[in-house]
Amino acid sequence: MPHVLVSGGAGFLGSNLCDRLLEEGWEVTAADNLLTGRLKNIEHLRDHERFRFIEHDVTQPFEVNGSLDYVMHLASPASPPDFTTLPLETLRAGSYGTHCMLEMARAHGARFFLASTSEIYGDPPPEHHPQSEGYRGHVSCTGVRSVYDEAKRYAEAATMACHRTWGLDTRIVRIFNTYGPRMRPDDGRVVTNFICQALRGEPLTLYGDGSQTRSFCYVSDLIEGFVRLLLSNETEPVNLGTDEEFSVRHVAERIIALTGSSSEIVTAPNPFDDEPRQRKPDISKAKRVLGWEPHIEFEDGLRRTIAYLKNELEL
Ligand code: NAD
Ligand code: UDP
Repeated sequence: MPHVLVSGGAGFLGSNLCDRLLEEGWEVTAADNLLTGRLKNIEHLRDHERFRFIEHDVTQPFEVNGSLDYVMHLASPASPPDFTTLPLETLRAGSYGTHCMLEMARAHGARFFLASTSEIYGDPPPEHHPQSEGYRGHVSCTGVRSVYDEAKRYAEAATMACHRTWGLDTRIVRIFNTYGPRMRPDDGRVVTNFICQALRGEPLTLYGDGSQTRSFCYVSDLIEGFVRLLLSNETEPVNLGTDEEFSVRHVAERIIALTGSSSEIVTAPNPFDDEPRQRKPDISKAKRVLGWEPHIEFEDGLRRTIAYLKNELEL
């Protein structure tokens, strides 16, 4: 059975990925320094015979027992507030971390999979909406979010360079906003913030006027796309996300309705001056190359996430 190393395996996406790979019958080793992830996310796997956890900072070299078939690099802070509090850690995860994981893949003759992001497109102009893989981006290299955007751009460049120079077998996924169970309630992202605020009866904080847009993919759909891309022959980057686009104000209104909350919506200054105004993926490549498309409706995914967060907050 294949053996896969998942960096960032105790995080939101990483832990959901580990579950899925174990369901496939694979052997899974997760490496994580618990910077933004939680042991709680993988607690249920502690005694699983095909799962191992290594507490380690993947910006430093390390060894894994046995041979590896796949190396999946997800380790990185991923929430905008983390870019302010963990800027150097974010840069290192994308640069040194990516190199360590590329070296690991090379040493094992394994296929390398990079979790990149829609943030590499930056704040796209209207003519590049939706964003397709060919769009090269409009990114600030000095703003608050630049530590993440530029680190991921660097990680993609490093991955392609190792593909060309070493002949390393590589895959790159550009992930658009994803949500669902195992997100940290206090991660500061919009879905978790709004649901927690609504459940606690606190005002929902709309940054700016709330007209900025995002498209939200439910975690199980995304993980299905990961597996398909990992097993495909596609070595160029592939977008994964939903192409249903909502304003942030609409998200706040839907969450208030679905939680039955009496919370009001308030506006607050946007802490990021370099955030995208509009974001929606062009997923035609994923449909064509992977036969993939998302299936979970936004309201259905929100209901599942509300149930998870209610439990997390012990409400
Ligand atoms: P997360 O914060 O829940 O998970 C990241 C994990 O990486 C955490 O468990 C953290 O402890 C670990 N980590 C960070 N630095 C590390 C290091 N140096 N060594 C070892 N472990 C380290 O975030 P997530 O949402 O699960 O994101 C996972 C990956 O997916 C990230 O690379 C992120 O950039 C990418 N991504 C996520 C989204 C999304 O919407 N969730 C969107 C685009 C890209
Ligand atoms: N946002 C908001 N209120 C919050 C958190 C976020 O209005 O409490 C907005 C944020 O300004 C952005 C969108 O919601 O326009 C998505 O933010 P998130 O942090 O989830 O991810 P991003 O897509 O910006 O990386």
